[in-house]
Amino acid sequence: MELSRRDFLKSSAAAAAFAAAGAAALSPLRPKDAAAAESGITWGKAPCRFCGTGCGVLVGVKNGRIVATKGDPQAPVNRGLNCIKGYFLSKVLYGTDRLTKPLIRKGDTMVEASWDEAMTLIASKFKEAIAKHGPDSVAMYGSGQWTVFEGYAASKLFKGGIGTNNIEPNARLCMASAVTGLMTTFASDEPMGCYDDLDLGDTYFLWGANMAECHPILFSRMIDNRLKNPKVRIIDFATRHTRTSQMADQYVRFAPQTDLALLNAIAHVIIRDKLYDEQFIKEHVVFKRGKENIGYGLEDNFKFADEPKLIGFDEYAAFLKPYTPEYVATISGVPATTIVELAHLYADKKRKVTSLWTMGFNQHTRGTWVNNLVYNVHLLTGKICKPGENPMSLTGQPSACGTTREVGTFTHRLPADMVVTNPEHREKTAKIWGVDPKKIPAKPTYNATEMFRALDRGDIKVVWVQVTNPFQSLPNLSRYRTGARKGDGRFVIVSDIYPTRSTELADVILPSASWVEKEGVFGNAERRTQQWFKLVDAPGEARSDLWQTMELARRLGHGNLFPYKQVEPEMWEEYRKFNEGQGKDLAPYATYATTRGLRWPVVNGKETLWRYAEGHDPYVKQGEGIKFYKNKPDHYKAVIWARPYEPAPEVPDRQYPFWLCTGRVLEHWHTGTMTGRVPELKRAYPAAVCEMHPDDAKLLGVQNLQNVKISSRRGSIVLPVELNGRSKAEKGNIFVAFFDEGKLINELCIDAYCPISGEPDFKKCAVKIEKA
Ligand code: SF4
Repeated sequence: MELSRRDFLKSSAAAAAFAAAGAAALSPLRPKDAAAAESGITWGKAPCRFCGTGCGVLVGVKNGRIVATKGDPQAPVNRGLNCIKGYFLSKVLYGTDRLTKPLIRKGDTMVEASWDEAMTLIASKFKEAIAKHGPDSVAMYGSGQWTVFEGYAASKLFKGGIGTNNIEPNARLCMASAVTGLMTTFASDEPMGCYDDLDLGDTYFLWGANMAECHPILFSRMIDNRLKNPKVRIIDFATRHTRTSQMADQYVRFAPQTDLALLNAIAHVIIRDKLYDEQFIKEHVVFKRGKENIGYGLEDNFKFADEPKLIGFDEYAAFLKPYTPEYVATISGVPATTIVELAHLYADKKRKVTSLWTMGFNQHTRGTWVNNLVYNVHLLTGKICKPGENPMSLTGQPSACGTTREVGTFTHRLPADMVVTNPEHREKTAKIWGVDPKKIPAKPTYNATEMFRALDRGDIKVVWVQVTNPFQSLPNLSRYRTGARKGDGRFVIVSDIYPTRSTELADVILPSASWVEKEGVFGNAERRTQQWFKLVDAPGEARSDLWQTMELARRLGHGNLFPYKQVEPEMWEEYRKFNEGQGKDLAPYATYATTRGLRWPVVNGKETLWRYAEGHDPYVKQGEGIKFYKNKPDHYKAVIWARPYEPAPEVPDRQYPFWLCTGRVLEHWHTGTMTGRVPELKRAYPAAVCEMHPDDAKLLGVQNLQNVKISSRRGSIVLPVELNGRSKAEKGNIFVAFFDEGKLINELCIDAYCPISGEPDFKKCAVKIEKA
């Protein structure tokens, strides 16, 4: 398929959105008109506000207002291009209903208040709950859209000040399985590769990733590579036919959950046909097997601890024996010949293979396992830590990596991969924070789902939500929405820039500054740290989440945690101490102000493109080749895991015969609170639809755009069916996007999660469908 990068972006749904914007908005400006139109505009740099790709944008400001944005030609990630959301960045902050004043609930109405009144009330609720019920009765639920400073301050206040591990990010819903996959295999979070692999490889396996819509700029880099190199092949493993499948060289449809079996079958063939790299395995790999039949986290306060045991190559090969291509074909629907052919493609010594995945793997009740299994294939074949040859989980949010994973804003984590359960890690953290090590509790408390279960039960009394919208995005949503308004001392604070389905349940709403209305740092999916300065004022009385957190700290008597005169630079230098010498080194703050980001570890001013590899990673000495230097307990080797196929907790049956999968579309960001306020994006994709296979529609007696009622064991929703849209559902499967705040599809989703990562599965539950 001969499509250039720009052609791809034009031919994607961007074209539809621009069409919706109207011809006038599209009229190309002649150069002299363009120069005139730009007069008086000053330009600043920033990473895009939306996805984890981390595109660089130039932000045009005139008279204190953002008037334009454009792709930054100097940004190595996107080289001047943006996707449709990036092109409309200038409008996301200027919806007519921006929150500009704090609001306090009085009965059924929200009443304007001063910051002092709002913060006094919030502080009193925190103090009251802590005095009556202890520090674990208060909680913070944050976000992969937090800046590094906001996440760092929240973690420091809750763990080092209040003395509770009740802090979680919404990244638990999107990236947690990638974290546990990396930690269990390499003992270090974040990928070994980088986006350059998209330019340098020749064989791309996509697993559960609709990159064309959800990571369009990265997809366009791959397409560009294929245009230049006819050898490039893109194989799309998926459960529905998407824009990505259309552009791929091969679409391999598999039955939901059977990715586990397929990856084991690929490993089976690699071993059976002796395609593995014996030397690499000998030097760099150990084998382990953990617990099996590990449950699904459906019960409140579910607990799980794995018990890994070392095994040998022969035991691993014996474990794989049942995963013959013929057997796996019967459960996955992928022909045995295709499995064999693709296993050989993975192992082909003349090919540079990169695997990419997103929520299909991570939002999975066996998310950690499926991440382990894709690493297995790369470790068996030795195709790892080399230019063009790496496995990589693509991040959803702009700083899911930089803030939630690297700063460590999960209940169990501390900065730089440290954990609260380790006394040395607590000691080091306390020293940098200047607090008593006993202040940081040794036990993690709740993952995101359990946090909202605890609110529902009343074990958590006060929860503060920042930069996210849990009462639209959690699975089994009705339980958690009801729980938030049960009263009996529960108190919900939501900081946001617009009214959302979460602010409607709040007792206090705080108006936040967003993106370039404040200074910040984001870390993207390739370990790139990007900084920006404040470029415009926030509207009305809106203030940054960082200020809000530090103000609560001051009112709770923890103001000494934030003694900075110049907050961002000083906080950065403090945070950097966690990373120094840990294989995660960051540059001084000033360096980021003048670059388009750097990929850590940054040592002597030099970034690292490929980790663990001699000649690229400063932590690997001459002559060491590849060294997984973070995994000391396993003698600096990576782990190949024997992980079985286990079915999903809920599968279609006679009563609920369809699989429901939820996800994103190109035009909208997550719950649509920002993109829904950009008229062009809203017009291009106004409301959620139910993608359905035409044969299923025929059996149900419904036609395109007729309404159906979709019901799961947890809720129902009415939506129009779409039979011939941009994506095509397979028979027995439907897909619904979750951006539409008028149609809360997540009410239907099951709140089962991976017992190791705690990440829920939004991709699989059973539903029935009736004509509405
Ligand atoms: S691909 Fe992601 S980061 Fe890049 S412009 Fe689009 S939304 Fe922004």
